[in-house]
Amino acid sequence: MESRRSSARRPLVVGNWKMHGGTAANERLLADLRARLDAHALEAVDVAVLPPYPYLAQASAWLADAAVSWGAQDVAAWPEGAYTGEVSAAMLLDLGCRWAVAGHSERRALLGETDALVCAKAQHALAAGLGAIVCVGETLAEREAGDTEAVLQRQIGALDPLAEQSFAAELVIAYEPVWAIGTGRSATPEQAGAAHGFLRSRLAAAGFPADRMRILYGGSVKPESAAALFALAEVDGGLVGGASLDAAAFAGICLHAAHSARTSA
Ligand code: PEP
Repeated sequence: MESRRSSARRPLVVGNWKMHGGTAANERLLADLRARLDAHALEAVDVAVLPPYPYLAQASAWLADAAVSWGAQDVAAWPEGAYTGEVSAAMLLDLGCRWAVAGHSERRALLGETDALVCAKAQHALAAGLGAIVCVGETLAEREAGDTEAVLQRQIGALDPLAEQSFAAELVIAYEPVWAIGTGRSATPEQAGAAHGFLRSRLAAAGFPADRMRILYGGSVKPESAAALFALAEVDGGLVGGASLDAAAFAGICLHAAHSARTSA
């Protein structure tokens, strides 16, 4: 692609387990992943997994001495109090989490999460010291109507208040076209490159340090599609759903990201 990836942007690959797993299955997955991701690979890529809330303590026990970090698939938009069922950023930190996702398209669609709520979640995560991974992306109908950039502009624009605040923790954006999630149909490198370039310039215009921000691609990333996507200078890694439940596939994707870092260095 046109420009080389900034050296400030080390690739990041995040496995979103969604509502899958159980104690025994997670143990097998984590052990297998640790065996496959050797220290050499992890020198060039940051790797994280996002188990469901009840298994965060299990991930912390299994990964405490590994270079793989862990985080949550969501976070509360409030610091603490009478919010039944919610989990605060401070609680996630207490469990050793490094990351929290805000605004996954499944939550936007199924639970009606708004852009403002997503921004509040990211704000609380960042203020507590958690890296926030904010998901954005258009539906198939929006893409076919030519509205992709308008949708991305609205979703990313909702984060503008964060540009005026200074956080020690990192804000990561995940471009996840809704039509590519769980469908086996990944965006083409051209589609991903265009969307990532748009998002980065929009972030820069809002005053974010866009050159230093990681923008991940998500949507049916598999070992077979990862190399071409991660070769793009604008793509700083991936948010991986289905393939993250298979240690061999997820490790393969991480190795492609490590390779992309080495070849663009
Ligand atoms: C996701 O859940 O964020 C995702 C990208 O899922 P999948 O890789 O299965 O498309």
